[in-house]
Amino acid sequence: MNCPDCNHDTTSIVDTRQTEGGETVRRRRECNQCQFRYTTYERKDWDQLRVKKSDETTELYDKQKIQRGIELAVEKRPVSSGQIAEITDEITAEMKARDEQIIGSETIGAAVAERLREIDQVAFVRFVSVYRGYSDPAEFVDVLDEILADDALSSSETDADHTHSSEADTQSNR
Ligand SMILES: [Zn+2]
Repeated sequence: MNCPDCNHDTTSIVDTRQTEGGETVRRRRECNQCQFRYTTYERKDWDQLRVKKSDETTELYDKQKIQRGIELAVEKRPVSSGQIAEITDEITAEMKARDEQIIGSETIGAAVAERLREIDQVAFVRFVSVYRGYSDPAEFVDVLDEILADDALSSSETDADHTHSSEADTQSNR
C-alpha cells in the first residue's frame, strides 16, 4: 500500500493490534521514505457465503441443498417446481443481503420454514420436525397448536364460502 503522503511503495509496520473481538486488525505503518505514519485496517472478506452447522463447522452455501430440503418437505403436496425454485431464489437472495458472511444453519432453516408455512402447512410441519428434530416435545405441540388454530380459522372461512357443504364433508376433508 503506497504512502498517502509521498506515494512510496514500502512501509514498516510499527504497531499491530486486534479490535472488535478479533474481527479487525489495526496496523500502524510508517513510510520507509518520508516516515509519514498512518493506520490501515484489515478485515476478513470473501465472496462466497458460508453456513455454520450445529457442530460449529462451516461449509459453502449450497443453493441446491436448500432446494432439495424443500423438495423433500413438499413431496406429494400441491406445490409446483416453479414455487420451489422461487422460494429457493428468495431465500438465497435474503441470505446474501445479510451483513454476515457466515450464516447459522438455523437462520436458513427458519427462513425455509417461514415460507413453507405460507404455502403448505403439511410441508411446513414435515420440514420443521425433521429440521429441528424437536428435542423439546412441548415446542412441537406448540407449533401444532398454532397450525390447528390457523386451520380452524381457514376452514371456517371455507365453510362461509361453501355454505352447501355438510358437516360430514368438512370432517372427511381433514
Ligand atoms: Zn511517504
